[in-house]
Amino acid sequence: MPRGPQAAASTRAAVTPGPDTDVAVLGAGIVGLAVALEVQRRGRRVALIAPDDPRGRASFGNAGVVSLGSILPVAGPGLVGRLPRYLLGRDPAVRIRPGALPAAAPWAARFLRLCNEAAWRQAARALAPLVAASLAAHEALAADLGCAHRIRRHGYLRVWREEGGLGGAALEREILREHGVATEALSADAIAEIEPHLARRYACGLLATDSASIHTPGDLLDRMERAFLERGGTRLRAPVRALAATTDGVTLYVSAGECRAAHAVVAAGARSAPLALPAGDRIPLAAERGYHREVALAGNATLTRPVHDAAGGFVMAPMDGRIRVTSGVELARPDDPPDHAQIHGAFADAGQSLPFAPESAGEIWMGSRPSTPDSLPVIGVATKTPRVVYAFGHGHIGLSTGPVTGRLVADLLDGKRPDVPLDPFSPRRFREAATR
Ligand SMILES: Cc1cc2nc3c(=O)[nH]c(=O)nc-3n(C[C@H](O)[C@H](O)[C@H](O)COP(=O)(O)OP(=O)(O)OC[C@H]3O[C@@H](n4cnc5c(N)ncnc54)[C@H](O)[C@@H]3O)c2cc1C
Repeated sequence: MPRGPQAAASTRAAVTPGPDTDVAVLGAGIVGLAVALEVQRRGRRVALIAPDDPRGRASFGNAGVVSLGSILPVAGPGLVGRLPRYLLGRDPAVRIRPGALPAAAPWAARFLRLCNEAAWRQAARALAPLVAASLAAHEALAADLGCAHRIRRHGYLRVWREEGGLGGAALEREILREHGVATEALSADAIAEIEPHLARRYACGLLATDSASIHTPGDLLDRMERAFLERGGTRLRAPVRALAATTDGVTLYVSAGECRAAHAVVAAGARSAPLALPAGDRIPLAAERGYHREVALAGNATLTRPVHDAAGGFVMAPMDGRIRVTSGVELARPDDPPDHAQIHGAFADAGQSLPFAPESAGEIWMGSRPSTPDSLPVIGVATKTPRVVYAFGHGHIGLSTGPVTGRLVADLLDGKRPDVPLDPFSPRRFREAATR
């Protein structure tokens, strides 16, 4: 793959960004920004192209967890049994709008085929090295941006309301142990000791001790973009409508015209799949919606770490003095209007767990997780052209794994062998799965 000065020399005149762009990064979420900063740090001229929609990004509104235990895909062995509850709208963790089913069917068929222990273990093996590198990558990024204080290392707590909760997670704990992820089982008293303001409605919990959280992801994104611009990066605030690769570069079509770069990195989150088509890859990608609402706690109550209520299907995450309640998953058609029922339910339920100051409740936010059926991201070179590299599909763990993805993509562009095995994340795996 051409790089450095050769790549610059091979670019042609462009409308905007400038004609000498080495790498155009499509998308300004955590993944695109991490790629842009790292590629720029290695001496290339980088343009960041994405709409000016800061709150529209999944990276803005997530729960902020850098979860070292998130190596298990969503498609798990017990999921098929829960399907009727999801379809009937009886599970707060997952809502499926009936209108979404026809379009989601091919994605869902792949997803359901993976709901078994063997596939779960295989995906965990693929994700483990990526996820293990995620916190160190966040720390390096925060040190570079002067915001190390935004990372809190208090772990990530999952809690169950019934005694049997931990037992139900036995296989998950076994797999986490195999991959060296430290967890600690907690009794109701132990939960009360570390989170004294949490209501006594939880019978047991599991603390992922080495996990961390980011206060507040939107602030991190702002700092990343500012640093990128201060270091000479170019920013075009528009969506890329299409791209076309030739032997010496990539043409990007935006509403104002077209521009060229030696390479393009597709990091457009849940909207990445159409941009991969002209580069030879049909990627099954779903937009798994999620919502959040923030609120202050009453009096001097506090929450130290993000807490996932397994029964309620929501997370309560401390964010700079407020609590962000994030919902589970909603499957809807891309242009369906928001449906606040799930977050209203989660918010009311979370209000039974923590003493909210209800008058301080904020606006409801909605964003989309870019999700593949196997819960593995797509990180790799496009099938039809080495000029296009993919970095999307991080699903439920994109905040955690965005910064490490930046390093891996920069390695690919430099022609270096990445230190995390990328074969499982290849865009070609879907084609291979279809022909098996
Ligand atoms: C409720 C919720 C809670 C979550 N909690 C966590 C968590 O605690 N920990 C964790 O690790 N992950 C979490 N996630 C997942 C995480 O937020 C996502 O995986 C991650 O933000 C995806 O980042 P991204 O950069 O790929 O996409 P995004 O942040 O969505 O960014 C996509 C970018 O692409 C741009 N774009 C779109 N179309 C185009 C186009 N045509 N051309 C150019 N640019 C385009 C967008 O404008 C945007 O800038 C959560 C997600 C949700 C919804």
